[in-house]
Amino acid sequence: MPGSAPSRSIIVANRLPVTVRIDEGQATLIPSVGGLATAMKPCHEAAESLWIGWPGETSALGAGEKAQLDESLRAKRMVPVHLGRKEVEKFYEGFSNGVLWPLFHYSLERVRLDAWKDWEAYRDVNAKFADAITAIWRPGDHIWVHDYQLALLPGCLRKRLPEASIGYFLHIPFPSSSVFRILPWRRELLEGLLGADLIGFQTFSFQRHFISTLLRTLGLEAKLDVVEFEGRVVRVGAFPISIDTTYFATAASQPAVKEAATVIRENHPGCQLVLGVDRLDYTKGLQRRVLAIERLLERAPHLIERFKFIQVAVPSREGVEAYGVLRRQIEELIGRVNGRFSTVNWSPIRYLYRSVDENELLALYRAADVMLVTPLRDGMNLVAKEFIACQVEHDGVLVLSEFAGASWELGEALLVNPYDVDQSALAIQEALEMPQEARAYRMKMLRHRLRQWPVQRWTAEFMEALITAGAENVRRHRATTLPETEIERLLAAPCVALVLDYDGTLMPFAPAPELARPDDALLELVRRLAVRSDRRVHIASGRDRDTLGRWFTGLDVSLFAEHGFFSRADQAGSWKARTIPLSDWKPSVRAVLERFAEHTPGSFVEDKAVALCWHYRRAEPQLAASQVRELRLHLAELLANQPAEVINGAKVVEVRQAGVHKGLIVPDVLASAPEGAIILAIGDDTTDEDLFKALPPGAVSIHVGSRSSAARYRLPDPASVRALLERFTG
Ligand code: UDP
Repeated sequence: MPGSAPSRSIIVANRLPVTVRIDEGQATLIPSVGGLATAMKPCHEAAESLWIGWPGETSALGAGEKAQLDESLRAKRMVPVHLGRKEVEKFYEGFSNGVLWPLFHYSLERVRLDAWKDWEAYRDVNAKFADAITAIWRPGDHIWVHDYQLALLPGCLRKRLPEASIGYFLHIPFPSSSVFRILPWRRELLEGLLGADLIGFQTFSFQRHFISTLLRTLGLEAKLDVVEFEGRVVRVGAFPISIDTTYFATAASQPAVKEAATVIRENHPGCQLVLGVDRLDYTKGLQRRVLAIERLLERAPHLIERFKFIQVAVPSREGVEAYGVLRRQIEELIGRVNGRFSTVNWSPIRYLYRSVDENELLALYRAADVMLVTPLRDGMNLVAKEFIACQVEHDGVLVLSEFAGASWELGEALLVNPYDVDQSALAIQEALEMPQEARAYRMKMLRHRLRQWPVQRWTAEFMEALITAGAENVRRHRATTLPETEIERLLAAPCVALVLDYDGTLMPFAPAPELARPDDALLELVRRLAVRSDRRVHIASGRDRDTLGRWFTGLDVSLFAEHGFFSRADQAGSWKARTIPLSDWKPSVRAVLERFAEHTPGSFVEDKAVALCWHYRRAEPQLAASQVRELRLHLAELLANQPAEVINGAKVVEVRQAGVHKGLIVPDVLASAPEGAIILAIGDDTTDEDLFKALPPGAVSIHVGSRSSAARYRLPDPASVRALLERFTG
């Protein structure tokens, strides 16, 4: 395309990769710390990409200085989203770190009780990010949103940019559905995430939690790694984040680092070095780690004066109350253990409450004999991977929590349950006493695996999956959007024969079928269509005759009940049944369905003339999904030689006499239509597919919802169907 700009990656994260520091009114930019900033840095530097995020607290700057700051950020391809002090407090410290962080890490007692006070700020800041992105987005760009602070952003963006390619990656764990559903805003958050084309998690386990949460919260059933939502396909996958392994290995091999590592070792003669490096966070398991050291010294007194545990605790989220409390508790605990076991020349624990510079960190990684990474729950944990990359002499031992995402890839570490203090103590002892050959073997395997999966591969694989998923949705969106020209063609026709499904098409689903009776607005809409001589209204439903006849009484419409087995041409006419020989499969199928209904609370059996239905809309979704699978197996066996078919409908399994389907009604519709009439058929369910397939050329078909369909076009919901039909009344 002449003049079209190249596509760009737009990285969106709560923070920019640099943070503004203001000293005496003067702004300077310092690199941001943390796994995300480090992981995405190569992606931002290598490609034509933009990074959108919060630059840090800038309210002390005047308008001119702020403009100058924005300008210097722009030169680095960074776009700032400025947040006020109150916004940061509520959106970042309040909702993100006071609610989502503890909940996603199973620290339920730390979830703020007054969470609702901050929800609106969370929503508004997500919308603010969406505005900033919308202002710079160009067709072809790929937007990659990061982490829990921006869970609503994909949904906000989708409303503004229907054709944007949007990926979302969650760096922290996704909890089990029973925990996630504690959140009062569970629907909003899930729908926000589903605005993306691709949703990535650190591990397969988090991906599975997400998929079962979708089912239990929104009733959405995923097929493998795909879920359909609002007419789009959302792909879900596990993409374990990594580090730049070559960079770490090279940097750790530098003479200055080697020398610094030697100095650290010489400062602790006769001692093996045990290392911990963590942000000071309650998820990192620091207290239990210190208790494990205490337990080790109780169990193995011969190790007194034989090792030194150096714990670096990097200050973090000091504005959040829980972190201040935690710091005091840890320091008290370390004091107690040191007091109890220190000798005149030695103390077991050296504690550093500060960040360390890169060379110091690399030297510590290189010098350590044993690395303790024992979080209670962690999305991935990059420290574990950095340690491995820096073990250029190949003989350090990693003690790793089985609740860190990294444990999925690092099986040669000594895996521990960090809640089990005694087992952790034993594992540290095993690491300290492990023969050289076993240490080297394990580390060699770990280094080999890590080299195969550097962060560059993580970025490339996510981006590739995003490009594919985004393109698929754009194609789908363009191919299935009902164009205005098609509506005009219908409006210009001498007559339009409307063939309308009822449930899920004209009416939204209700918890029980009898509650989905037509509302006044719908009856009025149908009446205004039916009175026109250039419209024919046919309502084609799976429902029984009596219900349809009762609901549409007094309206000049033709009705098809039980998928067209019964028909009534107009209100004066009587119901006619098709001449299809019925067979006797019903009693045995009824017995099976009733047994399932008894064992699936909330489900029930509906008996129709040519079908039996097992409805499970009100049943617990996960139980129902498993019962559906089992029921289908039973039915397949039972009906092997019977003229009946099993249909998976919208929260209903229907067993129907073979040969009865909505395609049967097309000849009737055509027979009653005047010359030049065009059929407009609309339906949402599996059973409407037979209708779509039987339509003559020139007819217009519309599927309501997200599933794959034989229909040419797509509308999202009954409200949009009614809005379309409204145009045929005028
Ligand atoms: N780190 C740092 N400053 C320090 C010590 C460590 O920036 O003083 C880095 C460390 O190298 C690692 C990151 O902080 O890249 C921590 O990432 P991890 O995934 O282990 O935990 P998170 O902090 O993201 O929960």
